[in-house]
Amino acid sequence: MTKKIDTLFINAHVLCMDDSFTNFENGAVAVLDDHIHAVGPTDELKNTCPAGEVIDCEGKVLMPGLVNAHTHVPMNLLRGLADDLRLDVWLLGYIMPVEREFVNPEFVRLGTSLACAELIRSGVTSFADMYYFEDHVAEMAAEAGLRAICCQTILKFPSPDAASYREALASSEIMIKKWKNHPLITPAVAPHAAYTSTVDILVSATVLAQKYDVPLHIHVAETAQEVEDSLRDLDMPIVPYIEQQNVLKSKVIAAHCVHIDEREMHTLQKYGVGVAHNPTSNLKLSSGIAPINRMLELGLNVGIGTDGVSSNNDLDMFEEMRLAALLAKGSSGDPTVVPARTAVAMATSMGAKSIHLGDQTGSIVKGKKADLILVNLHTLHNTPQFKNDPDGVYAQLVYSTKSTDVTDVMVNGKWLMRSRELLTVDLSKLLPKAQALAEEIDKFLIQRFQSVYSKLIAVGGAEEQESYEVQVKVKVDDPQAVIDKLLQSELDIQYFRHYHEYDTYFEFEDPEECWLRYREDEFIDEDGNVENIRYRLTLIGPKRERHFPQDVLLSRSRFIAPAPQSLRFYREYFEPSNETYIEKDRRRWKVRFRDIEFYINVDRLDDPALGTFLEVKSRTWSLDDAEEKAQIAEDLLSLLGTFPQERESLDYVQIVWSKS
Ligand SMILES: [Zn+2]
Repeated sequence: MTKKIDTLFINAHVLCMDDSFTNFENGAVAVLDDHIHAVGPTDELKNTCPAGEVIDCEGKVLMPGLVNAHTHVPMNLLRGLADDLRLDVWLLGYIMPVEREFVNPEFVRLGTSLACAELIRSGVTSFADMYYFEDHVAEMAAEAGLRAICCQTILKFPSPDAASYREALASSEIMIKKWKNHPLITPAVAPHAAYTSTVDILVSATVLAQKYDVPLHIHVAETAQEVEDSLRDLDMPIVPYIEQQNVLKSKVIAAHCVHIDEREMHTLQKYGVGVAHNPTSNLKLSSGIAPINRMLELGLNVGIGTDGVSSNNDLDMFEEMRLAALLAKGSSGDPTVVPARTAVAMATSMGAKSIHLGDQTGSIVKGKKADLILVNLHTLHNTPQFKNDPDGVYAQLVYSTKSTDVTDVMVNGKWLMRSRELLTVDLSKLLPKAQALAEEIDKFLIQRFQSVYSKLIAVGGAEEQESYEVQVKVKVDDPQAVIDKLLQSELDIQYFRHYHEYDTYFEFEDPEECWLRYREDEFIDEDGNVENIRYRLTLIGPKRERHFPQDVLLSRSRFIAPAPQSLRFYREYFEPSNETYIEKDRRRWKVRFRDIEFYINVDRLDDPALGTFLEVKSRTWSLDDAEEKAQIAEDLLSLLGTFPQERESLDYVQIVWSKS
């Protein structure tokens, strides 16, 4: 007796996307429970497969659902939050501060549901995700009925869902155990990237992935900077480095791989690493163009991903498929590379292999899961159709078809969309919530970004320290005489230091704003060599708090923070209206004078060359204290010589401005 099957698709142009690219121009697919029971010509299956429901697919392509090989679905709620920025400014300056403030289980659930709706509508049936609170991503993906690899992010610094990486590893294991045998969800582990991981994270995440035989999802060589840093700090590029930590022995999904060389590609191929190519994200963040043509030649499984929508800004896999093909052609100067059929494979069968789900999905083969989509070719932009080239249909899908041509989506034998109507996600409730949250985030950003100070706090970590100082400054013609006098004096010298200081001052349009100084401090040793370099940001109050007799200044340093990012980063993040550069040689003595600590600086301004200044400074905490110290500072100055010159009441940057 012939078994009655659940659904029989007939009269479709069936693209199997199997290894031999079988296709049936008038084809049929039979679905039983969660899997594909049979595939073949309509005439044949009509007779052999009596079905509960028969669907006439006239004018439509029936193909495997698309596989989004790399994304961060909850970020759907951050779409359009910050655009046209460099990766570090975008990530560290905007996305991460907002994530720290807003990302919680509710955020993740809402973002995931919205993303699932968008994925289903564009014909995606499987995706590989990487985010925080991934357990909630898994729940909502399962509720929407999509197949997903849900990878818990592990970072070396605190994240919205883990105070430490140990915590993130522990919650990864809990999640893996919970979801291990789910029909739709594959739990996995995601050390975010080599540069955001420690060796211990990479090793532990690999051990975890191997212990439970789950994938390991990681960003690899996304930017040239990442590779430069790796070469400088580790003396090797990214792939050999993660290979050394045994990472590649697990089932790796390597996102991006934009900046990898021939040798690294061979290594990835040797270990069966899946590569997730993200053409839009790489273009939008100007990360570069991944050498996918060569990867494909070497037999690597290269899938296509959208990345998160905040760097895309949508989850449209038809766009990605098209861009993957076009970009490979445009960048190689060879229009024959990545032909349309290959691009479709990258978004289906090869994509499934790249995320290590090739045995379950990605092609229409008897026994595989019924993850299917119908694409309507009876539209204006798909007309006319030619039959002379059997591969013409792939070109049509890649170059003409829009994601809105996807009419029906089935995952695991269950309908998620029919005639473009979503069946598992109710948008009417979700969209207003997303907009309400956007308004909250807007408020937060407007507040956080309204002043240089709050922007600095947002990006500078927690090293806020307010300090005021009393300072007196005078130009000296014979610095050596001052130094001699200092060394011969009775002053208790606590230490001496020699620096070369390279300062960039940012000014801002609003005159009420402070100046921000980016300082590169080179510590010079006794032999005149650079011993150490320190980078710091200091926010300096624009106004003198109080002017004392003899032009002693009470200046204000509101905030001092280490500056781990580049000058270029801070320039793009703070967007100053003007910049001033000052280079000086500083000899500094810390002394005790009348039981008070003072710094005596002999500063030679080299660029611009403005001569040498003697500066006496001390920390202070109150106006009374400042008044007393101001007098003592003046006394200390007289100890070092007689200076008939006028006291300089301006900061160096103001002196430079006054001369220009
Ligand atoms: Zn990513």
